[in-house]
Amino acid sequence: MDIRTKLEILADAAKYDASCSSSGSKRKREQGGLGNAEGPGICHSYTPDGRCISLLKILLTNYCIYDCSYCVNRLSSGVKRARFTPSEVARLTMDFYKRNYIEGLFLSSGVLSSPDATMEELIEAARLLREEHRFCGYIHLKAVAGASKELVERAGLYADRVSANIEVPEARDLGRLAPGKTHAQIEATMQTVKTALVERQPESRALVARSQTKRLYLPAGQTTQLIVGATPSSDRSILDKSSALYATYRLRRVYYSAFSPIPDADPSLPLESPSLVREHRLYQADWLLRFYGFRASEFVTDAQTQNLPLEMDPKLAWALAHRGAFPLDVNRADKRALLRVPGLGVRNVERILLARRQRRLRLDDLARLRVPLSKARYFLQTADWNPSLRQLDTKALTDSLVSRKERQLSLFEAPRLALSGEL
Ligand code: SF4
Repeated sequence: MDIRTKLEILADAAKYDASCSSSGSKRKREQGGLGNAEGPGICHSYTPDGRCISLLKILLTNYCIYDCSYCVNRLSSGVKRARFTPSEVARLTMDFYKRNYIEGLFLSSGVLSSPDATMEELIEAARLLREEHRFCGYIHLKAVAGASKELVERAGLYADRVSANIEVPEARDLGRLAPGKTHAQIEATMQTVKTALVERQPESRALVARSQTKRLYLPAGQTTQLIVGATPSSDRSILDKSSALYATYRLRRVYYSAFSPIPDADPSLPLESPSLVREHRLYQADWLLRFYGFRASEFVTDAQTQNLPLEMDPKLAWALAHRGAFPLDVNRADKRALLRVPGLGVRNVERILLARRQRRLRLDDLARLRVPLSKARYFLQTADWNPSLRQLDTKALTDSLVSRKERQLSLFEAPRLALSGEL
């Protein structure tokens, strides 16, 4: 099989892994033009500073000894199979890089004869890139659950980031859908990565201090993916799981991937994808968990389904359910309380804390600090403004706050929203 055919098969097979987000662009190169957004396997991810970079996103192979019912590459699937050698992956990456198509590699794989055999080949591809081709770009490797500690640790010598996918929040659902995998095994792999990172922390700090960042161990840490809608698990249980994973394994990021029905699917799986708005609300809640001091148990969810509301973002839903906590005096409230005000982001709060050292803030000051007042003013009190005087009931407040855009988002399938965040 020629490389181009392998690339088409193995790039297509990799698209279900959301650990890096894809643009889904279909634009072809025009005659006489430069660049091509349609190259198979090219996807886009975001750096911590919001920069978008393109990655070659492929599988080493789509052969797999496991039979996970949600996966197009499972043992019993009739898909066409292909397999790259590590040196083919390295050459392809360099070829794409030299043509300026990509800035990095996202390499995952089906499981060959064993997790160790697969991990060894993934590591070899990364080693060839780093040592033979002297490739300094970004490399994200799949950490194969069940691979030995030594191999998982070794992957970090070459990769910027690794990810072991937890897949679904409930261990019993994983046992039913993916008979070859267990949460215990996947979390043991995450633990190995965490321990390796912690042990090398002093060395990493010293390297950063000497600006020798090229030799850092796994500088972009580890991530995981949770599939949304393949099982009946609620948003509450998904966010509980994410929260526990962040706290236990110091994950950089949990990715939420709306389940998409696959060809020749197992009959136990749903026939339709969940709403992409649901996936979007989970990302918003995840952001609040990581940067705004929210706990998973605090999110407002539907009493029956335990899912987040689709028609408004989780922070606004929390604020409307806690009207007694507002209005908040911007001249006195602490950082933690200010971060809960709808419309106030981390930067807004930092600007407010700095500015109020100089004087008592008024509504115009907030506008100058670029606070989005259309939402925030219902929850904030300043030297010249007190919204409690307006005596809006919760229904009227909700109507004025839930924007037309949000309403449309909950009514129609939203396009997959570009998710800013680190790689
Ligand atoms: S281990 Fe499961 S999810 Fe991964 S490639 Fe194999 S069948 Fe698919």
